[in-house]
Amino acid sequence: RCRHCSKIRAVAAPEKQEVRTSLRRNENIGKLQAGYLFPEIAKRRRAHQEKFPDAHVISLGIGDTTEPITGFVADAMKQAADGLGTRQGYSGYGSEQGNPKLREAICNRFYASLGRQPQEIFVSDGSKCDIGRMQMMFGSGAKVAVQDPSYPAYVDSSVMIGQTGGYSETGYDGIEYMVCRPENDFFPDLSQVRPADLIFFCSPNNPTGAAATREQLQQLVDFASANGSVVIYDAAYSLYISDANCPKSIFEIPGAETCCVETCSFSKYAGFTGVRLGWTVVPEQLRYADGQQVIKDWNRVTNTIFNGASNIAQAGGLACLEPQGMKEMQQTIDFYKENAGILYSTFEELGFKVHGGKNAPYIWIAIPGKPSWDTFADILERTHIVTTPGSGFGPAGEGFVRASAFGHRDDIMEAVRRFKEAYGKSS
Ligand code: PLP
Repeated sequence: RCRHCSKIRAVAAPEKQEVRTSLRRNENIGKLQAGYLFPEIAKRRRAHQEKFPDAHVISLGIGDTTEPITGFVADAMKQAADGLGTRQGYSGYGSEQGNPKLREAICNRFYASLGRQPQEIFVSDGSKCDIGRMQMMFGSGAKVAVQDPSYPAYVDSSVMIGQTGGYSETGYDGIEYMVCRPENDFFPDLSQVRPADLIFFCSPNNPTGAAATREQLQQLVDFASANGSVVIYDAAYSLYISDANCPKSIFEIPGAETCCVETCSFSKYAGFTGVRLGWTVVPEQLRYADGQQVIKDWNRVTNTIFNGASNIAQAGGLACLEPQGMKEMQQTIDFYKENAGILYSTFEELGFKVHGGKNAPYIWIAIPGKPSWDTFADILERTHIVTTPGSGFGPAGEGFVRASAFGHRDDIMEAVRRFKEAYGKSS
């Protein structure tokens, strides 16, 4: 109020001075486009929920597991947690490389007949974390090739570490995008791929759901060997494979031990997305140009910036690999695969071209003709269902959306009902 006439006057608020440090932003982080895909989707989902507060939004988007951890495995973790509260059961830091019993169990379950040794298996807090640490190990000078589309962590971690130039419509300068589309059976034409130091390869693939055959993986290993590349093979969905001609590990392929590392995870096998447990296999035979062993550097990185996976999680991992745990894990995987089958046939019935879903928990649906973010928005608006836009996985993902099969069965059935209502012939 004015002191003289007592009228109310608008007074400009004093401008708040932002306080800045003198630290320059890491220019590589500055090259990244928008937000990381999944937080961006979560943001749009929240905005949608605010617009429609009463809607039951169903997420087939982010790809997070939904079903409870099975009894045998949950009990093992309960026991481990209880033990920590006792003098006998307490343990502090463990080995950075993982509990030796777990390293051995992973080796016996998945790699024993493939020539791998327990000391080549490094237990971790998950594959994504290992991918980041691997980028740090290989460094900013490495040239990277990725499947296009692919899990966004490969490209974004390459950008962060400084392996790329800036971004344009065709992707980041310096990254070799290996196009994987229905036309090439989702396997890159390697004769067109420029050699790279590191090749990220994920099978079964997130997001396309395609699993590479033995012959295709042999081509990949031969290509890497011929060019002196290292393949970072992501097997996070291996146990979803039912096709006998699709290997579950790259080490089934002759020659892989001198050009491949493999990362894998309990996240999608046992519902450990929140528990956090994975592993990476680095063969002793894998060497740099100067003859040094890669495993020595991986061990050094692990010792320096990782203090070992949670002891409770590792107790859970050990239980997963016992016969009862394996049985329960497979039941959970089969449940999600049934979801995948339901979604696959729904979209097929609706007349869409559908891919994936047979050896993976992802369905890759072709919806050409408009940007996939628009399709994502259209689906959300019409059905209150969150999917993932294909372009979020790379330029060749444009024209597709991904639906994840991780969901409670009643949510999947409700999603089917809504899809049919919104996209059926009569609608
Ligand atoms: N690799 C792929 C291909 C994935 O899809 C995911 C998770 O969605 C991960 C790795 C991450 O696994 P983790 O939970 O072990 O970090």
